[in-house]
Formats: sequence, C-alpha cells, structure tokens
Amino acid sequence: MPKRVSIFGATGSVGRSTVELVGGLVGARAEAFVVEAVTGGRNVALLCEQAKRLRAKVAVIEDASLYGELRDGLAGSGIEAAAGGSALREAASRPAEWSMFAIVGMACLAPALEAVARGGCIAMANKECLVAAGKLFMEAARASGAVLLPVDSEHNAIFQLFEPARAGEVEEVVLTASGGPFLGWEKAALREVTPEQAARHPNWSMGAKISIDSATLMNKGLELVEARWLFAEVRDKFRVVIHPQSIVHALVGWRDGSVSAYLSAPDMRVPIAHALSCVEGGGAVPFVGERLDVAAVGRLDFAEAGEGEYPALGLARRVLERDDGAATLLNAANEEAVAAFLGGRIGFLDIVPLVASVLDVGVAEASGSPGTLDEALFLDGVGRQLARERFAGGF
Ligand code: NAD
Ligand code: MG
Repeated sequence: MPKRVSIFGATGSVGRSTVELVGGLVGARAEAFVVEAVTGGRNVALLCEQAKRLRAKVAVIEDASLYGELRDGLAGSGIEAAAGGSALREAASRPAEWSMFAIVGMACLAPALEAVARGGCIAMANKECLVAAGKLFMEAARASGAVLLPVDSEHNAIFQLFEPARAGEVEEVVLTASGGPFLGWEKAALREVTPEQAARHPNWSMGAKISIDSATLMNKGLELVEARWLFAEVRDKFRVVIHPQSIVHALVGWRDGSVSAYLSAPDMRVPIAHALSCVEGGGAVPFVGERLDVAAVGRLDFAEAGEGEYPALGLARRVLERDDGAATLLNAANEEAVAAFLGGRIGFLDIVPLVASVLDVGVAEASGSPGTLDEALFLDGVGRQLARERFAGGF
C-alpha cells in the first residue's frame, strides 16, 4: 500500500521545504507515496503549482474568497479544489500515514487536532498549538496513538538525543537561541527598528511571525512551553543558552557528567527529513542543502540568556510555573502584538510589555488548561481581546 501524505501550510517557509522533500520521494518512487492534501492560506498560484507537482488529491485554500481562483487554476488537473476552515478540517480528517503541520499560529489547532484524532505520524512544525493547548493536544495523541514528531529544530534535536526511558539520567536540557538580528544591540537603538530589520534573521530563512518572535526571543519562550509538553519527563530541566551560530540546536547533560550535543546546518530540511523517516525509514531522505563543515564554521560561542535581558523568557517561566491557561493567553497576546508590530501600529519594544500586561490582567480568567478545542479557542479570543484593549488604552 502506498503511504498517504498531507502538507498543511504548504505555501509557507517550512511548507515549501516539505514540498521539496516530499516531491523528491514522489519523483523517485511514485508507487510508494500518494499525496492526499496540500493547503495554503492565500497564495493560490503557488498552491496550484505544488498540488500539480505532487499530484495531490485535494488542494485547500483557507481564504474562501479565493475558491474560484483555485478551482480555475486546477481545472483539467483532476485535483479537487476546496476552501475555508471547514474544508481544512475535512482535509485533516482524511486518512494519512504522515502529515506536516506548518500553518503558522493558532489557526493550526483545529486541523491539527483533527489529524491527531485520526492517528498516524504527525510532524509538528507549528509550535503555537502546543503552547496554547499542549495538554489537550498531548491527551488527544495519547488517546489515538498518533506519533508526534517535533520538527522545530531544537525539539527535533532533543527528540533524537534521548529517549523518555532515560529521562531519569538527565540533569539538564539546553535549548539554544541565536539571539536574533539584534544580539548585542543597545536597548535604545531598538526603539526605532522596522519590521524589515526585525525579520532579517542572521541564520534562518523563516516566515514573518517566527522571525519577529526570534528577534524578541519570545520564540525561545514559546519553545520552553512547547518542550514542557513534548518532553514532560524532563519538564523542570530546560535551560536557554545564547548560541549565535545556530549550529548546536540542543544539548543534553547527563548524570554521569557527559553532555550530548546535536549539530546540523541551520536548515529546516534537516528536521523535516528526520520526521519523514517515520514513513521512509531512517536516513533515507538525502540532504540536498549545504552540508555542515565544522572546520568552515571555525568556532561555536555560547552565553547565558539572562531573563533580565530577555523578558520574554521570564514571561514563559511565569506561565510554566502556573501550568494552566495562562500559556494560551501568552500565545494569543503575542500573536496580536506581532501582527500589530508588522502592521506598524506598535514599536518593536512594545511587543513584550504588551504581552506582559495581558498576562497581568488576564490570568484570573485562565485557571486550568483548556480541555477542549472550544475552550482553547475561547481563551485565545480572550487573550486577543485583552491585547487589543491594552493596546488601545496605552498599556
Ligand atoms: P510561514 O508564514 O512562512 O507559513 C505559514 C503557512 O500557514 C503558509 O502556508 C500560510 O499560507 C498558512 N497560513 C497562514 N495563516 C493561515 C490561516 N489562518 N489558516 C490556514 N493557513 C494559514 O510560516 P513558517 O515560517 O513556515 O512557520 C510555520 C510554523 O512552523 C510556525 O508555527 C513556526 O513557528 C514553525 N516553525 C518554523 C520554522 C522556520 O524555520 N520557518 C522553524 C521552526 C518552527
Ligand atoms: Mg526553533
């Protein structure tokens, strides 16, 4: 039987890399793979091209107003066109042995939960779902037997460095952070930075939202919460270290004094290929990018990531201590704040204080982690509303 594969958020940064790797597999052994669904937010032209290249059964565009354009673009190809949120969830409920979730933000939660409920290998690039609804997500996976494969590079590294059975031997787990484009800048100089400057990551090429999160270090804060759910056995052992070269993605310190490090070029095709080994056998997807040459890299630097210097990490620690719906609020407020910054409505230095002020006023409403999709979406809405009110009120 051929393996059925679906890619959600195919038109984005991680999605395009996934299409490239899956396209290689389909090209080499068309009889072994069937692409069920590819989805995008608004880029109809690219989605049509990807669907045809992969010979997908269905292509879904989230923006329902673009349905006609998608249908016309796919005319004569035999590929089904669909649009809107319910079509996205329907595509996620179709049987598949492997699915990639690379939709950015909370919009990924409903389709991802749909796929988790039907089981199979779920490659999770999206981190916001795990931050906002980690308990719900992990319980759904346990119930269905779905295999969650972390694609976020640090989490993929940790996944490869240790097995849950060895958790008792782990002293600490280090997530590395590049520090983003403003590492070493004076705070005063950050006041006037533009979205273009903030989105220019030194090592990784990524979508706009995660690039801004990397610049504020909220990305690493979100990753601490993400790690808490993916690696619950070592949930109190995470530490963040600044590592500007983004070559070492994670370190595991063991009781016997040894430290395991995971290195790779900063290229998302590496963790995506690892996640594909779930259906293609270990190491079967050859790397086509520029290989890591440690002699060419020359040196690897590491530095403490102080919470005084990086308040986003302090906010993440705060929600981790509470371990309740405060994480949902944190994520929602951050999505709103990043959108406001990208839209030119707030400054770069306003992002983290805006999120902090939402937590200050909102935690009273956030007792308990959301237990259902509706609860998660409700709390997400509360966080967004509070962010908009705080913003309008000059927080
Ligand atoms: P991106 O912005 O490049 O792509 C996002 C994708 O989601 C696109 O296909 C877009 O059309 C789609 N989309 C956007 N809004 C949507 C909506 N409301 N409904 C349905 N689809 C929608 O983002 P990216 O950089 O590829 O990141 C995707 C996810 O992976 C994020 O959660 C990010 O944190 C995570 N991630 C990305 C990287 C990276 O290197 N880019 C690394 C680690 C984790
Ligand atoms: Mg990461």
